[in-house]
Amino acid sequence: MIDGLVEFSWLRFFIITMCLTQVTIATVTIFLHRHQAHRALDLSPLPSHFFRFWLWFTTGMVTKEWAAIHRKHHAKCETADDPHSPQVLGINRVLWGGVFLYVKEAHNKETLARYGHGTPDDWLERKVYSANPKSGILIALALDMLIFGVIPGAVLWLVMVLWIPFWAAGVINGVGHFWGYRNYASADAARNIFPFGVFIGGEELHNNHHTYATSAKLSSKWYEFDIGWMYICILQWLGLAQVKKVAPKAKFGGARASIDLDTLQAVITHRYDVLARYLTSVRQLAAEEFSRLKMTAQDGKRFRRLLGQDAATLTPAVREQLGPLLARSERLDKLVTMRAELEALWERSSASHEQLVRQLQDWIARAEASGIRQLEEFSLSLRRYAV
Ligand SMILES: [Zn+2]
Ligand SMILES: [Zn+2]
Repeated sequence: MIDGLVEFSWLRFFIITMCLTQVTIATVTIFLHRHQAHRALDLSPLPSHFFRFWLWFTTGMVTKEWAAIHRKHHAKCETADDPHSPQVLGINRVLWGGVFLYVKEAHNKETLARYGHGTPDDWLERKVYSANPKSGILIALALDMLIFGVIPGAVLWLVMVLWIPFWAAGVINGVGHFWGYRNYASADAARNIFPFGVFIGGEELHNNHHTYATSAKLSSKWYEFDIGWMYICILQWLGLAQVKKVAPKAKFGGARASIDLDTLQAVITHRYDVLARYLTSVRQLAAEEFSRLKMTAQDGKRFRRLLGQDAATLTPAVREQLGPLLARSERLDKLVTMRAELEALWERSSASHEQLVRQLQDWIARAEASGIRQLEEFSLSLRRYAV
């Protein structure tokens, strides 16, 4: 083994590797994802140039390709055109081979032309980063070997180079659309893998992200932590970043006596929060009904999954599976039907504002006259949403 310029114990070497890896993760989540692909924050030239250099130096990825593939993923989520949906391609193919799916899509000129707009296009990009995307990681390999010695340097380099292809292209794109919990019923299968987003820069909170894609902050509940957001706050405090958008926080006022355009707007603005609360009501009623119907634990579990946030939307297939339960419980049937009617308020339609306000008035009137406690309590909270 050839020694490097500096002597390091293995513990110190491990810590250095993890710290450098965090810089690469921060580059991907802050620069590529939140800044370039979603425009959730502005970056001043200093961090922007640093991130561009670090991306080239440690990953060999091209900004335009990454942003375009990712925007297409959001636009075509869980369809055959989604570049990496585990719901379509299978979890193993995305988890273990996500990087190959990325490379394949990066060669799709149409994707780059349609979704790659607004990414850096200066001299540095054209002549260095995009022109020689792999030379950065080769220089990094030589430098790592020189500083740390041949074998430790190669190990450090390999960890850095493989980290993003596996953790981002594999784990986030695969597991983040397959296993985990859902705070919000986003119109795709996105899930929060783990509430503590440190290992992959906060990207673990993938359901929150797909729900509020242009938010610079990915955590939502009090127990969730997004280390990427912490880095952004530090950059903002230093005057190096400017947050443009975060997810709307539900605000409540006094219960409105009459339902008007303001109520409609508040409900539409906070639709994901509205739906999450509605699903809580559904779960509470389901627990009562399951015990009244003396349902087995196994059936209860299956129906709870179908009724709740696991079903991204109440598709005809889901309704069919719910059929035997809804035939036995008129009250649950009402909640399922009224959920679809509630969602119709914010789904794209040709209805005018006046029609939608009347629809909401009618929905609340029926909920309040339903004789179902959970529905009555929920409709009261609808009256309290503020813009
Ligand atoms: Zn996703
Ligand atoms: Zn995204």
